[in-house]
Amino acid sequence: MTIVEKNFTAMGTAPLIDPFGRAVTYIRVSVTDRCDFRCVYCMSEDMNFLPKRDLLTLEELDRLCAAFIGLGTRKIRVTGGEPLVRRGIMTLFRSLSRHLESGALEEVTVTTNGSQLAKYARELFDCGVQRINVSLDTLDADRFRAVTRWGDLARVMEGIDAAQEAGLAVKINAVALRGVNDDAFPQLIEWAHGRGMDLTFIEVMPLGDIDAARVDQYLPLSDVRKSLMQRYSLEPIDYQTGGPARYVRVKETGGRLGFITPMTHNFCESCNRVRVTCTGTLYMCLGQEDAADLRAPLRASDSDDGLVGAIRDAITRKPKGHDFIIDRATANPAVGRHMSVTGG
Ligand code: SAM
Ligand code: SF4
Repeated sequence: MTIVEKNFTAMGTAPLIDPFGRAVTYIRVSVTDRCDFRCVYCMSEDMNFLPKRDLLTLEELDRLCAAFIGLGTRKIRVTGGEPLVRRGIMTLFRSLSRHLESGALEEVTVTTNGSQLAKYARELFDCGVQRINVSLDTLDADRFRAVTRWGDLARVMEGIDAAQEAGLAVKINAVALRGVNDDAFPQLIEWAHGRGMDLTFIEVMPLGDIDAARVDQYLPLSDVRKSLMQRYSLEPIDYQTGGPARYVRVKETGGRLGFITPMTHNFCESCNRVRVTCTGTLYMCLGQEDAADLRAPLRASDSDDGLVGAIRDAITRKPKGHDFIIDRATANPAVGRHMSVTGG
């Protein structure tokens, strides 16, 4: 029996265990599908967003999170779209902080593009957030504008400064993109590590239709790793954040470098998470279509019985893993929805 199972047995509640024996203790909550950027690998330039009337209110999102915490969720990542553009979003962080104070929850984290961080960093820290991920693929302002279509690098840099000043640990996430940032990985590594930040590279995934061909963007991280090893000593370390990244220490900088490799090295066997969208749709896997509607049971009653039942039922359908393919012969994405809908 695992520690999670023992704790729950002691409490008389069954933890969420999927058909492959994996305990689900981590949720990613996408609080909006909207964003102030249009990253070329994430969205097309013309996106149709969900009508606002379909969205869960912040109070409903809070209730949903509380139901998961009651079922053993220990970690919540708030994501999107761009989570910090949702109006009133700090209300959700403030109310989630009660679970951190009570010890029911270990961690609340955020994934953000950084555009609103200068405004919100201190408040996030005051709400008990200790670590955040900021997505930043290049340090070149023109390239940054090209890759995000609408982003301003200087503003993101101000946001990162504000986050560090507020006491937040910042991890930088960079999607490895052929022809965009593949000549500047050492620069990113040295910049991030020079500022005391971890850096994680991510392989692009075939999620949703975009204006470009994925195959032209895709860069296997196995190749990136080999080329970095010509320049640096990469020492495997046993560091885990609960996510899918595998870390090394770069001996020359002393910093941590993570690799998220959904394409070249499937990490699904250790998957501990599920994702909830801003409309209350629960996706048991980022790369599969099966989903469960949690909004209807949430709204049907003030009691959480129906909601808890729907969550438990969905977990019995959590698939073994994703089946991502990026090649010239495979034109369609693995799933139709963009990463901004399911939440990164
Ligand atoms: N807007 C926030 C941000 O950019 O950090 C949060 C949401 S975004 C969807 C979460 C993460 O997903 C970002 O690090 C982004 O780079 C990554 N991402 C988006 N589309 C992707 C794709 N098709 N393949 C791999 N990563 C992707
Ligand atoms: Fe927006 Fe994040 Fe998608 Fe970029 S990756 S378009 S910032 S949701």
